[in-house]
Amino acid sequence: MAKKAKAKRVAGKSRIANTKSRKHVYFFGAGRADGNRTMKDLLGGKGSGLAEMTNAGLPVPPGFTISTEVCNIYYKEKGKIPSSISRDITENVKKLEKTAGATLGSTENPLLVSVRSGAKFSMPGMMDTILNLGLNDDAVEGLKRRTDNGRFAFDSYRRFIQMFGNVVLEIPKDSFEHEFDAVKKARGARLDTDLDEAALREVVERYKKVVKSKAGRDFPQDPHRQLEMARDAVFRSWMNARAIEYRRIYDIPDHIGTAVNVQMMVFGNTGDRSGTGVGFTRNPGTGAKEFYGEFLINAQGEDVVAGIRTPQPIRELEQVMPKAYKQLREITTRLEKHYKDVQDFEFTIQDEKLFMLQTRSGKRTGYAAVVIATDLVSEKLITPKEAVLLVDPESLSQLLAPGFDPAEWKKIPTATTGLPASPGAASGQVVFTADHAVEWTQQGKKVVLVRRETVPDDIHGMFVAQGILTATGGMTSHAAVVGRQMGKPSVVGAGGLEIDEAGKRFRVAGQSVKEGDYISFDGLSGEVKIAQVASKPSEILQVVNGGLDASKSSLYRRFKQLLSWADRFRRLGIRANADQPDQAELAHAFGAEGIGLCRTEHMFFGEGRIPIVQRMILATTEADRRKALAELLPLQRQDFYGVFKGMHGKPVTIRTIDPPLHEFLPKREELMVDIARLEALGKTGKQLDEKRTLLARVEQLHEFNPMLGHRGVRLGITYPEITEMQTRAIIEAACQAHKEGLKVVPEIMIPLVGILKEFSDQKAIVDRVAADVMKEQKIKIKYLVGTMIEIPRGCTIADQIAREAEFFSFGTNDLTQLTFGFSRDDVGKFLKIYQDKKILERDPFASIDVEGVGDLVRVGVERGRATRPDLKLGICGEHGGDAASVHFFHNVGLAADAAGAYRIPVARLAAAQAALSVKVGD
Ligand code: ADP
Ligand code: MG
Ligand code: MG
Repeated sequence: MAKKAKAKRVAGKSRIANTKSRKHVYFFGAGRADGNRTMKDLLGGKGSGLAEMTNAGLPVPPGFTISTEVCNIYYKEKGKIPSSISRDITENVKKLEKTAGATLGSTENPLLVSVRSGAKFSMPGMMDTILNLGLNDDAVEGLKRRTDNGRFAFDSYRRFIQMFGNVVLEIPKDSFEHEFDAVKKARGARLDTDLDEAALREVVERYKKVVKSKAGRDFPQDPHRQLEMARDAVFRSWMNARAIEYRRIYDIPDHIGTAVNVQMMVFGNTGDRSGTGVGFTRNPGTGAKEFYGEFLINAQGEDVVAGIRTPQPIRELEQVMPKAYKQLREITTRLEKHYKDVQDFEFTIQDEKLFMLQTRSGKRTGYAAVVIATDLVSEKLITPKEAVLLVDPESLSQLLAPGFDPAEWKKIPTATTGLPASPGAASGQVVFTADHAVEWTQQGKKVVLVRRETVPDDIHGMFVAQGILTATGGMTSHAAVVGRQMGKPSVVGAGGLEIDEAGKRFRVAGQSVKEGDYISFDGLSGEVKIAQVASKPSEILQVVNGGLDASKSSLYRRFKQLLSWADRFRRLGIRANADQPDQAELAHAFGAEGIGLCRTEHMFFGEGRIPIVQRMILATTEADRRKALAELLPLQRQDFYGVFKGMHGKPVTIRTIDPPLHEFLPKREELMVDIARLEALGKTGKQLDEKRTLLARVEQLHEFNPMLGHRGVRLGITYPEITEMQTRAIIEAACQAHKEGLKVVPEIMIPLVGILKEFSDQKAIVDRVAADVMKEQKIKIKYLVGTMIEIPRGCTIADQIAREAEFFSFGTNDLTQLTFGFSRDDVGKFLKIYQDKKILERDPFASIDVEGVGDLVRVGVERGRATRPDLKLGICGEHGGDAASVHFFHNVGLAADAAGAYRIPVARLAAAQAALSVKVGD
């Protein structure tokens, strides 16, 4: 006993010792780095990229990365950094001082650093970078002496106070901007760069007063203290509202934390031989192979992205600084080869010397993703397998999004043209704030968000808008980056717009547009028009629907190529949820290998059918019911035949009637109103009698909880003649198809089975009727009878059901509803609150709850297979089109996955990635 306790203590101790000896700070500089590209979890994307570039011998300013683990420790220790880690940081600062040949706070040669956040996934919702840290009232004079450039020294200092004041001391940006503008105005300066040293000294004095009055303290002068405060601000920013919202939208877990990068400053603001910029190795909007980006002369850091001055296209750098340009091209081409993917990079040029500050995989639109992946294969940079892994399945749905009809579009004059940041057609009512975007969308309106420039706080509005339009900013501004990532049509930097955000209006080309007016814009051309313009199907859909020849669409050919590569690797069969011949046709064109769920009741809503269905429901005797069913029979047979043809003979799973019958009848309240009206008019006779009978039946069929009521297999059991009619229609249609050479194997699926005998009852009917039909038709065809596993009891007794059922299809919509006890129709009232409170991370109806619902699926699979090893297993809930869920279905060993027609490309690609076992979002 005592021994055991001791062993435990020792183990505990060694664990602590382990944490202590663990490396928390990673140095990079002078050609060598402690980290590398494989260490994104620990160093974040930025830190791992800086390490990798350093190791590759690229010009990267030296620095160090404090790991993401320290972020978690910071939270666990309630905002304190253990002294062992503080010591590590101090040692790394010393090492950095040595490498840089400069010292923090020195008046001779002060070391300045940037403090940069950086999680595993790039997150625009997080902290702004702090530049020029280390400056104080003495060091700034040292910097001036050393560089012989007082303007530069004070420009750096004012930037530092502003950034530190805003990010660390949480003083609103306007408080600083107000002072800055005042000085500019007093001196008659138009551009920031017009201010001289004296003016900037005045700005610094004013800024220090802002800090004193707003933060109630002096601006901290000790550089070591500045560094600690900045580091902690990065950690705190991990939990700010924007960052949390961003992670929620993109399903990034909260626990991974952010790293902090501390890096020696290089200066793009020393004069006209310096500058800063950002770029991509290929066009992230269209995927075209062209060097792409922007830069600003005599500027620092975020100036390019912030849209304060309009940057120059990167090509022009070739004229201004040819040597640096050439080197940049060489380096970025090398980076693309090295990472085997498009790179998004940041650089700064100090006195014509180039420095690399960041590289990462470039975010791109769905179009660009497909173009780039197929191009990289043609260029032999990657294999088809790597291409399949390079494209986010979700981005394929963007390729199916509509565009404007060119003829309609041409008719309307262009009001202004901005930068085409993210392709797609957007049309809707103008709103000027993110909150309005959300409110109006909730009222069912389609809105476009118009802003001078967007900020990370706008993310919720950008998410719901049809598109984003800004007046300032370049192709790498916030609106552009986020728009592309969300797949939202975006036009940025439309300088022709004079926006009056407070007055909720803008002027353009002599017209005034107010909130609520319609505008449209094209994210591929950048054109903006003051009108509502109808959009038309995407190029891919046009080819699929036969309106455009495949040879005329390179996009379609690439799309098809990529998906055919995906098919090489996937093991999960992909089917469609479809119940109309044209849907089946579309699904087939998208590569569906069959139909996983054909909902027969949707056919009951077809033209002229509802009265027959109602007659069937109103029938009081079996004979009357059979009469109505006899009328439905030829219609259903025709439907099934159409679907078989649309699927070109591929397997089709048809579900027998599922919803409660009152869904086919008018609403009780409507009937009561009708009757009252007829009575008031003094009408009597047939019409009134019919309404009264209908009302009586509606009241009879009323259920307190229809979801748990008389539906699914329960209908087939109480009205066997419905199952008989449906079976007859299916088998007759299949016989007809067979006679025409289409060897379809219908799969008849009984819904909502939870008791073996329910299934046996229905299977007996199906087998009997099928035998009759085949005898009449003098032909033998193959068919299967199976069930939908969608109530928890169906999963737990799957071993019994599999004795008789030839296939299972998991109906994950109902299974989720019944496992959680959440009504699908009412969950909207509380789901958002559950997510806000982190009770649920995601909507379980959108992405399968692997832990609970998934476990029931697993039980169903295991027990079913134990009885019948060759049992066919599939899923047919809405989850079939969700990439993360598809991974789970693959892993649990299902054979087929069914998704809505438009989601089939997504499912095919996701299934391939699952087979190649990568995690979604990695
Ligand atoms: P983000 O994640 O928002 O891109 P970064 O940390 O990359 O933030 O910083 C933004 C910009 O700040 C960079 O693109 C670069 O221009 C500038 N910057 C960051 N660190 C340095 C540095 N050490 N020297 C010069 N500029 C820097
Ligand atoms: Mg930033
Ligand atoms: Mg950056």
